Amino acid sequence: MTGANAPTFLCDEMLHGLARWLRAAGYDAVTEEPGTPDAVLVARAGREGRFLLTRDRAMLQRRGASRHVVMLSGQSTDLWAGEMRRRLGLAWWHAPFTRCLICNTPLEMHPSLPERAEVTGCPTCRKVYWPGSHTRRMAERLKAWQAGDCQAATA
Ligand SMILES: [Zn+2]
Repeated sequence: MTGANAPTFLCDEMLHGLARWLRAAGYDAVTEEPGTPDAVLVARAGREGRFLLTRDRAMLQRRGASRHVVMLSGQSTDLWAGEMRRRLGLAWWHAPFTRCLICNTPLEMHPSLPERAEVTGCPTCRKVYWPGSHTRRMAERLKAWQAGDCQAATA
C-alpha cells in the first residue's frame, strides 16, 4: 500500500521524532547516526532520491542540495507536520501503521497469530505491534494532521 511513487525521506538528527511519525504514516523514512556530516546526508538523499528534512539552514547551501533538501522552520512536530502538508502535499493518513516505527521495515502479519490480522510484526527487528490506546492516540494525531489541524499542542 505504500506505493512506489510515495515520497521517501532522510531526516537529520534533530528530526528523529519526525522520522518516527513518518513511519507511522507509512512512509519510508530513515535517519543516520548522530554526528553524520551534512555532506554525507546530502549525498545519500540525492543517491536514494529521498527528501532530506533538516532544521539546519546551512544544509541548503551544500552543493547539490537545493532540489531535495527541505528545511523545516517550526518549533514542534505539529508545525513540521503542517509544513510538510503545505509544501510537499504530504498525506498523513497515507498507509498508517504499515512500517516498523523503530527500523522502517514494512510490517507483516504476525506469524504465530494469523487469526489476529491486527497484530503485526517486524521481520527485521522482531518488534510486535498490538493495537491499543497508544496506537489509537497516534492515529488520532495523524488524522488531525491529515485534516490540516497542525496547531494542536504537542502531546
Ligand atoms: Zn523493526
